[in-house]
Amino acid sequence: MNPVGKPGKTGSLMPVETALARLLEMADATRVLERERLPLAQVQGRVLADDLLSTLDLPPWPNSAMDGYALRTADWTGEPLVVSQKIFAGQAPEPLKPGTCARIFTGAPVPAGADCVEMQENAEVLADERVAFIEAIKPGQNIRPQGQETTVGELVLPAGTRLGPIEQGLAASLGCAELDVVRKVRVAVLSTGDELIEPGQALGPGQIYNSNRVLLCSWLQRLGCDVVDAGILPDDLDTTRTRLGELKDVDLILSTGGVSVGEADFLGIALREEGELSLWKLAIKPGKPLTFGHFRGVPVIGLPGNPASTLVTFALLTRPYLLRRMGVRDVEPLKVQVPCGFDWPVAGNRREYLRGRLENGRAIIYKNQSSGVLRSAAWADGLVEVLEGRTLVTGDSVSFIPLSEVLV
Ligand code: AMP
Ligand code: MG
Repeated sequence: MNPVGKPGKTGSLMPVETALARLLEMADATRVLERERLPLAQVQGRVLADDLLSTLDLPPWPNSAMDGYALRTADWTGEPLVVSQKIFAGQAPEPLKPGTCARIFTGAPVPAGADCVEMQENAEVLADERVAFIEAIKPGQNIRPQGQETTVGELVLPAGTRLGPIEQGLAASLGCAELDVVRKVRVAVLSTGDELIEPGQALGPGQIYNSNRVLLCSWLQRLGCDVVDAGILPDDLDTTRTRLGELKDVDLILSTGGVSVGEADFLGIALREEGELSLWKLAIKPGKPLTFGHFRGVPVIGLPGNPASTLVTFALLTRPYLLRRMGVRDVEPLKVQVPCGFDWPVAGNRREYLRGRLENGRAIIYKNQSSGVLRSAAWADGLVEVLEGRTLVTGDSVSFIPLSEVLV
């Protein structure tokens, strides 16, 4: 097994891409295949289990895109036309009488025989109730053709799509009342550290409040996971073994803390004894130490305990891993290129994810980028990515990952 290495020089650190590729490979191999059928209103945040094929043409019939008049272009000679019927949305029209027009409203089916709709603004109702059309009329004008959006049998949403309000709306437009989704991934969250106590209790000497627990539990819920809140784990080997052993029926044990230096790394010892362990020194800042392994067959990810490190390693590594286990293909967050509004004179040997925001179109960063400072991330609305070996001057282009991209 790979022992805890010396703090890395550039060469000994694992690039973020390598770590992500390994995690995704393991996620692919342990994809959750069980599924459940849910009412459409309850699928938000879940992952579609099967390809969704259209069972209809959408729209099912040609309909009017405007309030106006339906007519046959060939019937229009420039002379006013008699209105032979009125068609509202929701009605089934009669075929259009030759030589006439039909009053029609947005969304109403276009009657057979009509090939265009002229909007009412370009029509004039004469005293004798005939309608004069002011402009030239073209076939197809203002008609939404049958099957414009989709036709029967067409792939509308592939399996592995994460479902949100837009996908729910689209499925509804196809008449789906229920969808088959991948069952929730069950994640146990453990916070390790003798110094931790829960908010609400009085702070004793040397103690700090546990911030990672609620941060990860809420985030996981947003990702559509079933969360098993396994509380605080003291820095003690026996307790670590026992408590890990109790976490059955979960798809992942996610712990924080205790991965930086070997001494208090009881998680690592327990994994070595009853499973397997890889300790990665990542070229990432904040972050760096990350544990991946198994305990009695259950995958375990151990994130560094400093809250900003927890946040960054969860956002960039754990989140994609979990989404991939649910069968999502596209798991990496969107990065946008923006000019930086700060100088970065000293190149680092790790890729930095600075907590920053966009101000007047430029990325600026929080004044204190310490990995213990979670406030930096509350202030921020994104992560500014500074590549290893890179220096920056104001105006250089940098990648910016909006936090809104990774928080869901
Ligand atoms: P560790 O990875 O256990 O060495 O912890 C690194 C730093 O993160 C230490 O300052 C810990 O006190 C702090 N830390 C670890 N876990 C948590 C937590 N759950 N909430 C807040 N801070 C933590
Ligand atoms: Mg610790």
